[in-house]
Amino acid sequence: MIARVSLEIALRKEFDYSIPPGLAGQIEVGSRVQVPFRSRNIYGTVTALAEESAYAGLKPVLKVIGAQTLVTPKVLKLARWIAGYYCCAPEIALKGVLPEAIRKKTETEAGWKKQMFVRALPINGKLPTLSKRQQEVWNLIEERREISLAELVELADTTAATVRKLEDRGLVEIARRISERDPYAREHILPTQPLPLNPAQALALREITQVMNRNEDRGLKIDDGQHLTPALSPLLAASQRGEGEKPFSILHPPSSTFLLHGVTGSGKTEVYLQALAHALEQGKGAIVLVPEISLTPQTVERFKARFSSGKLQTLVAVLHSHLSAGERHDEWHKIRQGRARIVIGARSAIFAPVEPLGLIIVDEEHEHTYKQEEAPRYHARDVAIMRGRMENAVVVLGSATPSLESYYNCKKGKYTLLELPERVDHQKMPHVRVVDMRQAARGEKGIPIFSNQLKEAIHQRLERGEQTILFLNRRGYSTALQCPQCGYVAKCPNCSLALTYHRPEQKLRCHICGQVQNVPAVCPNAKCKNPAIRYAGLGTQKVEETLAKLFPNARVRRMDADTMKRKDDYRKTLGDFRTGKTDILVGTQMIAKGLHFPNVTLVGIVYADLALHQPDFRAGERTFQLLTQVAGRAGRGDVEGEVFVQAFTPFHPAIQYARRHDFTGFYEQEIEFREQLKYPPVSRAALFTLKSRNEDKVKFSAEHLRHALEKDLLANEPLSRPAATLSPRGGERVGARGAFDDLIISGPAPAPLLRAETFYRYQIMLRTRAMSKLSQQLAKIIETLALPEDVTLSVDIDPVNLG
Ligand code: ADP
Ligand code: ZN
Repeated sequence: MIARVSLEIALRKEFDYSIPPGLAGQIEVGSRVQVPFRSRNIYGTVTALAEESAYAGLKPVLKVIGAQTLVTPKVLKLARWIAGYYCCAPEIALKGVLPEAIRKKTETEAGWKKQMFVRALPINGKLPTLSKRQQEVWNLIEERREISLAELVELADTTAATVRKLEDRGLVEIARRISERDPYAREHILPTQPLPLNPAQALALREITQVMNRNEDRGLKIDDGQHLTPALSPLLAASQRGEGEKPFSILHPPSSTFLLHGVTGSGKTEVYLQALAHALEQGKGAIVLVPEISLTPQTVERFKARFSSGKLQTLVAVLHSHLSAGERHDEWHKIRQGRARIVIGARSAIFAPVEPLGLIIVDEEHEHTYKQEEAPRYHARDVAIMRGRMENAVVVLGSATPSLESYYNCKKGKYTLLELPERVDHQKMPHVRVVDMRQAARGEKGIPIFSNQLKEAIHQRLERGEQTILFLNRRGYSTALQCPQCGYVAKCPNCSLALTYHRPEQKLRCHICGQVQNVPAVCPNAKCKNPAIRYAGLGTQKVEETLAKLFPNARVRRMDADTMKRKDDYRKTLGDFRTGKTDILVGTQMIAKGLHFPNVTLVGIVYADLALHQPDFRAGERTFQLLTQVAGRAGRGDVEGEVFVQAFTPFHPAIQYARRHDFTGFYEQEIEFREQLKYPPVSRAALFTLKSRNEDKVKFSAEHLRHALEKDLLANEPLSRPAATLSPRGGERVGARGAFDDLIISGPAPAPLLRAETFYRYQIMLRTRAMSKLSQQLAKIIETLALPEDVTLSVDIDPVNLG
């Protein structure tokens, strides 16, 4: 037999190896293997088995990794789809679907951790007389039934020799056994019961479980990926013979994807939990995706607690980046072995080998962190939908501020919209006031940080012993160092970006590449040398400092990437805030997410329009989401919350709709703008980025790429379209005829951040509705494109970050 292997090094090719007799029967499609390649031994994945090969003199497979196939055929299929749709080499996609700890380690090498365990043996008759010491040790073992030798020795303050004596007397057995690392072993989890649902929740759950039941009934699969029940198959067969119409339910299958739109606190998680229970009742497993930052121990506990006992008891495996390699290994294998039937994790948990899969939940589906920003550049929400379709699983997307993409798909009838319009506890949404900072700045020397209204509100909270959250999405002290005399701005030598001043360490830092510089005493411009250089722009450090001056008795803490360096900082800062040891918490978007603090009655957004003026068509959407999320932090206890939004463009729709908690209003006006300019979700986008240290070369290569794209994609005479004034890119051309009649190519243009980490970057953006078809073409174009050696090209399908 021959194994066809996709090697882990990017060659866009598969290689044949012979299966030596010693490994016969151990290798299947999806097995991870090690094979010789040139003079090295390389890991790879078996993608097919064959009787014979077109090549002679094949080298043998060296070894198989893992007792079970690691890439299940279903995940392999998903990886293939990723390679095709996201235009990346299959081996890169395959690498993305397995955690590093699984890809490389065999179970005997460094996988399972083995330890000595002591187990109590059944006693026939009376317990023999033991010494006092032995008796104590025995009592402990009997109580625990099984315990690791190391733990026993420590707990009983004894020695291994004493335990061995018990073994000699036939009371216990000591054996080497796998010891599973449980990252949540220290947490004490109390089981919970399903709550009686309110009518909106009950309706949502019913819709979801109905489709889950329908999917289970589907017996047969037909070629085009649709499914049908045994009752429908004769009707279909008849229609295929030309006798009668195709059955309606085949032409219009009810969607298996739901969008659960509900404000924070509306009980989405309870709906997820009960839908998960339904999957378990069907004998199926499920995957729950949560953004990394929301994957707190509290979140995990809520899921573990529901399934820790009772007839639906199962292990809940957790996959995220803070696990050790060993923990990740163990969690993953618990899933592979079918012992953990529910998986909760960040982005890459979508590849967990759950089988059979009944349900996928994507919480906070609008989150941008679901997009991976390196190859394979997949979007976990979209992979979830594809996986659901392939495996006949129901997908539930949940959010308080759905992405335009998902809401649009509901409007088009692709997904089913479910709404939870009210908070479970009937609490009112916080009252949001927008403060016009142009007015606040009148008569002041500079731009103030706090308007009088916000200052007064903070003061009141301090008097009443209530808590405040202040939000500013920019860390550091000042965002620029500027000379008022000659206009000099301290810039990063590697990036086209001003350096941020960090006051505690008295340094200038680049937030892109990390470059650190000393603060100059005088203007570095040799002709100027002005000693009075100034700082401009505002960061969280300055907010914190100003608060200390305004409210000297307030206990203020800051939460941003600078103060949250160690693993425990986050938990500790939030713990102190929860227990009332902090009055005011200042932070970046880190504090915007799903945190629940009943005593917070005031939220202040210092400069709400920071994100609005970015050169990104999603700037408005991001601002709306962020304001809604941050505002949702206020008033989750008994007291009604209040939110102050300070803005320089107070009448911007993103701010006004967020003020009124009006998602649909925002959607309607935003979709009109996307429609006019054919931006996603009305079309789909592909973004090419070319990088080089040499600006002329990268510019030239970008032009070259543009010509190649035009030649291959725009059939016949392309129609020229005048540069749309609202478009940041200009020079757009629209495809005339052929497959991509709606194709728009814009650019090349310098990236919004032209230079980053010493590389100049130019971009070309393509937009079309037919992205699956387009990405196939793009892969071919990339393959034949000749670029200078020092120019690199990346393609990002459905980009989220346009920087
Ligand atoms: P979301 O996920 O939408 O933010 P949660 O599911 O966390 O909302 O619900 C918010 C709070 O309300 C939680 O404390 C939850 O236990 C409680 N809750 C949810 N559903 C119900 C219900 N039907 N009855 C009573 N309490 C509920
Ligand atoms: Zn830099």
